[in-house]
Amino acid sequence: MRAYRILRRMNGHLGWWPGRTRLEIIVGAILTQNTAWTNVEQAIATLRAGCLLSVRALRAAPSSELETAIRPSGYFRQKARKLKAFIAMLDLEFGGSLARMGRVPARELRERLLATWGIGPETADSILLYAFDHPTFVVDAYTQRVAERHGWKPARPGYEGLQELFTRNLPCRRELYNDYHAQVVWVGKHFCRTRPRCEGCPLRVLFKRGNQ
Ligand code: SF4
Repeated sequence: MRAYRILRRMNGHLGWWPGRTRLEIIVGAILTQNTAWTNVEQAIATLRAGCLLSVRALRAAPSSELETAIRPSGYFRQKARKLKAFIAMLDLEFGGSLARMGRVPARELRERLLATWGIGPETADSILLYAFDHPTFVVDAYTQRVAERHGWKPARPGYEGLQELFTRNLPCRRELYNDYHAQVVWVGKHFCRTRPRCEGCPLRVLFKRGNQ
């Protein structure tokens, strides 16, 4: 919580997720795997320009058309397949309705998302939190890096262990989880890179003396 207060004081609320609609947030969460957000923005702009940002259009579009539109996001064949897999699951289990999907309890929806081809825990949790407003903490590579470097040790290994470390230490509030993830991504991009730039990083004060 102390880390969050420091970052929040510095940045204010970062107002995530950058997406105009629920579907756009979901598409962004799938496309952002293994690429920078600027590439996703290009892909989403192309989808929008081609009138492909609706469930109906994604369903009807040939895979080759989707692949061309999302090419800037990288791994475009795989990602087009992932978008199609998401729409197929939406059709099969929720009659093609995001509103219906949104009425499913978080735990159950997480399981269904994880059972969908190409959706892993980070993408599933991003969808739960940012598209459906469930209080779900998102863990990404930056979260892992910051936690490791500061010696915040989870009791269990893996994604869920790290998620639990944060949820046990933070109040369960959607707004907080929303902005916490955004702040961690900010610190990861600007300071906590592969080679950390602790000089000037606002979280440097969290290191105990002699622990740098
Ligand atoms: S750059 Fe250094 S001080 Fe900043 S979060 Fe990473 S390890 Fe901590």
